[in-house]
Amino acid sequence: MSKFDDILSLIKQLPEVYATEEIALEDAYNRVLREEVRADMNMPPFHKSAMDGYACHFEDLGGEMEVLEVIHAGMMPTQTVGRNQCSKIMTGAAVPDGCDCVFKVEDSEEVTKNTVRCINPRTARNICYTGEDYRQGDVLIKEGTIVSVPQMAVLAGAGYANIKVSARPGITVIATGSELVKPHEKPEPGQIRNSNSSQVITQLRKMNLEVVENLQLKDDYDLLTQKFNEALENSDILIFTGGASVGDFDFIPEILKEQGFKIYWDRTGFKPGNPMTFSQNGNKFVIGLSGNPVSSLVQFELLAKPAIYQLMGAKYTPTRIMATLNFDYQRKKADRLAIVPVFFGNEGRIEEIPFHGSAHINALISATALMEIPLGVSTINKGETVYVRPL
Ligand code: AMP
Ligand code: MG
Repeated sequence: MSKFDDILSLIKQLPEVYATEEIALEDAYNRVLREEVRADMNMPPFHKSAMDGYACHFEDLGGEMEVLEVIHAGMMPTQTVGRNQCSKIMTGAAVPDGCDCVFKVEDSEEVTKNTVRCINPRTARNICYTGEDYRQGDVLIKEGTIVSVPQMAVLAGAGYANIKVSARPGITVIATGSELVKPHEKPEPGQIRNSNSSQVITQLRKMNLEVVENLQLKDDYDLLTQKFNEALENSDILIFTGGASVGDFDFIPEILKEQGFKIYWDRTGFKPGNPMTFSQNGNKFVIGLSGNPVSSLVQFELLAKPAIYQLMGAKYTPTRIMATLNFDYQRKKADRLAIVPVFFGNEGRIEEIPFHGSAHINALISATALMEIPLGVSTINKGETVYVRPL
């Protein structure tokens, strides 16, 4: 097993640490379900017409039929449809007992004022039968599901006006680096703008997570220790960027040890972004991402996101697509899993884009996916397949 695979199994063993809370359905998008969603009735609840047309006996399609009534959506039929009879029916209305066919208005022809016939003997039956989508008591959505668009519809259809979800951790984002200035500032010689904070905060927002505080701090051991402890008072998770490596001013690993944190991993086993820490003390977690912007993005996507979801009790699996390489890929060292930004086009082929490494965040502007080059693989030829993760 690779280092990365080891970490993924470690993540699967992390506990669910956050409470369950009940929220209104309209606030449920991208929240983590903490209950099983079951059907309180059959769907559809009655035999339902799929078309605007005439409900009748299939065997009577050849002849003229007397029209008994008009059944609109929302009402129940009032007439029993006998042989050579029919009722006009609208989409979504209940089909009268005994009818086994609805022929479309477009396939009908008026013969007299109150009789019609079907002019298309090949008509489909056009009936959605009771319980064909699901039956009362069926499990519709599993606990741990991250609520997305289809789940919003299914929850509403099953009567879940309120749902139980995982409470969200309070997260403080801390960019470290004495060279950093804010985006609105003009860097002096030796300085650069902090681009990691807005990146990480946006990654969290995509997960519908809230940031309690957003700090930018110099590489000063005492200041970092003080802010570390203050931030832990009112946050469940701290996410640092920078300072997690082995430089003289990379203080995060030292502070974690000093404060009694258990370190789960301090290397990811992939490139870019090898140095990264994930640590725990009671129910507080600290994630130390790289300072380099591509590294921190990749680390968040591949490890921080699944770890946070695991702590929230979510069953999260990233989307990975097997696709065909449209260029020859080669690298010198194959000692780590490599993550390479690529353009994954509509034709399902992976195209190369210029990429200079972990600091080159601009490369991600034209990237649509991250390609995974497995550990031990140094050459992949054009036409061979490889996994990509859509961005
Ligand atoms: P570090 O992980 O602190 O050694 O930083 C690695 C590289 O990333 C250095 O070139 C830093 O200047 C750069 N860097 C660190 N933090 C940020 C940030 N917040 N935004 C942009 N670049 C950063
Ligand atoms: Mg630094």
